[in-house]
Amino acid sequence: MQKYNPKKIEPKWQEKWYSSGVFHAQNGSKKKKFYLLVEFPYPSGDGLHVGHCRSYTALDIVARKRRMQGMNVMFPMGWDAFGLPTENYAIKKGVHPAVVTKKNTDNFRRQMKSIGLSFDWAREINTTDPKYYKWTQWIFIKLFENGLAYKAKININWCPKDKIGLANEEVINGKCERCGTPVEKKEKDQWVIKITKYADRLVKDLDPVDYLEKIKIQQKEWIGQSHGALVKFPVEGVQEFIEVFTTRVDTIFSGTFLILAPGNKFIDEHKNKIENIEEVLQYREASKHISDMDRANEEKDVTGVQLKGINVRNPATGEEMPVWTADFVFEQYGTGAVFADAHDKRDFKMAKKYGIPLRTSIEPEDTELSAKVKNMEECYEGDGTLYNSAEFNGLKSAEARQKITTWLNTKGLAENKISYKLRDWIFSRQHYWGEPIPMVFCEKCGWQPVPEKDLPIELPNVKRYKPTDTGESPLSTISKWVNVKCPKCKGQAKRETDTMPNWAGSNWYFLRYADPKNNKHLADEKALRYWLPVDWYNGGMEHTTLHLLYSRFIYKFLWDTGAVPRSAGSEPYQKRTSHGMILGEGGIKMSKSKGNVVNPDEVIKQYGADTLRLYEMFVGPFEQMIPWDTKGVIGVRRFIEKVYKLSFNKIASVKSDENLKKLLHKTIKKVSEDIELMKFNTSVAYLMEFANAWQSSEIGLNKKDFSDFLRILSPFAPHLAEELFANLKLKGLCCVQKWPKFDEKLIEEKRALVMIMINGKLKDKVDAKFNISQKELEKLVLESEKIKDLIGKSEIKKIVFVPNKLINIVI
Ligand SMILES: [Zn+2]
Ligand SMILES: [Zn+2]
Repeated sequence: MQKYNPKKIEPKWQEKWYSSGVFHAQNGSKKKKFYLLVEFPYPSGDGLHVGHCRSYTALDIVARKRRMQGMNVMFPMGWDAFGLPTENYAIKKGVHPAVVTKKNTDNFRRQMKSIGLSFDWAREINTTDPKYYKWTQWIFIKLFENGLAYKAKININWCPKDKIGLANEEVINGKCERCGTPVEKKEKDQWVIKITKYADRLVKDLDPVDYLEKIKIQQKEWIGQSHGALVKFPVEGVQEFIEVFTTRVDTIFSGTFLILAPGNKFIDEHKNKIENIEEVLQYREASKHISDMDRANEEKDVTGVQLKGINVRNPATGEEMPVWTADFVFEQYGTGAVFADAHDKRDFKMAKKYGIPLRTSIEPEDTELSAKVKNMEECYEGDGTLYNSAEFNGLKSAEARQKITTWLNTKGLAENKISYKLRDWIFSRQHYWGEPIPMVFCEKCGWQPVPEKDLPIELPNVKRYKPTDTGESPLSTISKWVNVKCPKCKGQAKRETDTMPNWAGSNWYFLRYADPKNNKHLADEKALRYWLPVDWYNGGMEHTTLHLLYSRFIYKFLWDTGAVPRSAGSEPYQKRTSHGMILGEGGIKMSKSKGNVVNPDEVIKQYGADTLRLYEMFVGPFEQMIPWDTKGVIGVRRFIEKVYKLSFNKIASVKSDENLKKLLHKTIKKVSEDIELMKFNTSVAYLMEFANAWQSSEIGLNKKDFSDFLRILSPFAPHLAEELFANLKLKGLCCVQKWPKFDEKLIEEKRALVMIMINGKLKDKVDAKFNISQKELEKLVLESEKIKDLIGKSEIKKIVFVPNKLINIVI
């Protein structure tokens, strides 16, 4: 018998799998399709993280099982390779980002293959490949043509020291990631995508899909749908209104002032009416230097400036109200204006600070609290009963909201309105390493899309790709590239020099896998019809908001325009699950600075890929965060060695050990079920339990039963299973064998209803396991209280036992 040697076994089987094409999915096959998707990684210089290995292995187990169940499985992989880390690394080392990307993706691919992941490498995609981003650009043009991409002046994060625009990810606690300088806002012309047009569908369409509940909740919270009222406050002396969106119209009778966000356009439009306009504009300027996080901080002191000379009327009370501006009111929320009253903590603070009159109109249930609220000693923000509210006095908040809106509506001063927290999606980045936005600006014709035949607009291969000092994209300095003819009038025009954000390539990638080499369409319609929707998508909780939302939106848009066939349905992912992170030993996050990063290459070198796979499945419940534990790795390796040894010395020549066979079938059942529930840890535990029983059995398993065991082991430890399967001299690869069925009869515990008699008279019945021995049954019966009472102190003369039928006690 040879010693278990993964270094010899594993590369051999990887070579056989990848060269034979067993993992290739077939477009249009008659078999039932199964599209299994894992999030494609950002190929960083650090290589694959053990966290990647965990989620990829888990879904690899599902993919392998599905193939063995006879399905046509698509389990693809690719690279989300545009973005800042590569660009920054390239700048630091003086290597072109494309070179860095090639090196990193080669390394990632090598690592994935060394784990035995059953990806279909014939479908590999790379978002930085011009043949791929041609279609990312094409999608942008479609958005533009459908009125969903527009230019707007937007505040970007600006580092005044480095003089560059920063992506949100580069702003850490309000400071520049590179130099630590507090980040400011700078207004820039940006491309914006109108995702808000889809807000209601992005909420509603979550109902029928099979997502983890926490994922649905996060999507909904991010979109932030709220039902409320749009209320008009007439401006004194002019035929105008300031509109306010509120979810608390029940408090309108206590509204004593109105607050505008510092950037509210009303200020610009009424500059000559605002007596202290200088002061107001200064306040606006100062607010630009405060981070959104600080503006939203409820613990902070409030500041504000009154717009002198401007007053509005409360549409409910008819009273005159002053108008203020304060930075805790955001431009983007609702209409960028709120009415202020004693039932909001910051309004309350502000009124107290500046001596603005306050009034209350909602009474809480708690009488003690109620007294404090009425005396304005405390601010109450909850629902309650109305007072100080004319004809609405005595109503509960919820009912009052309906009635007050209807009442104001009859006066033309309010309407029901649904508002969203979701904002339109800023799509411009002033960086080199991204997809060029395929637009041209002509003085005469305005923004024009690049004609489809000219796509892709490739990133020019240049030496200088550092962000510029002015905050313009580095592409803007390449005049040869920038200056083009207008596609419409053929006159002088300029290319857009901003590039797309890193979400652009990942929001539609799952469509490309269906037909990755198509040069005429984003993917062939038949292929899309066959593969869509994705049957199961697994990814990190950190992508549950943005990536998931953006990709659902882009999918819906493509579906609306017919680029995705109608039959595919309006949602891209039928099922979405998520995995927990792997932490460093001792439960702290793995990081280079802490020196606790586990490198999968090292684990494979020392223990083998099957050990890595099994360990990462066994370590704990899949959805939980779990710390790495080297002792656990060793334990798993011992299990593998045990199975390897058993295959040589515990193979029965004729029949398997009967009890072991029963346990095998129970194990088949449990593993089959638990894989579907993502209970990979318990699946491995069952496999281990079985190996232990096998070891203690004298007879062991015969060849046929052993091959069944190998089949259920195969998704977890595929190399070992192939090796032992080949040792049995069985035909073909183990990974393409049929998934074993368990035999119900072997699993079922037969029971028998046994009559209990005393002196030939029926006294009781007992449900006992089938073929229970006389000794076991006697014990059971004589210990029962009922029989004990009946026998009392009498002497037992004789016991008659008929197996599975009766027991008669003669006293
Ligand atoms: Zn900086
Ligand atoms: Zn033109």
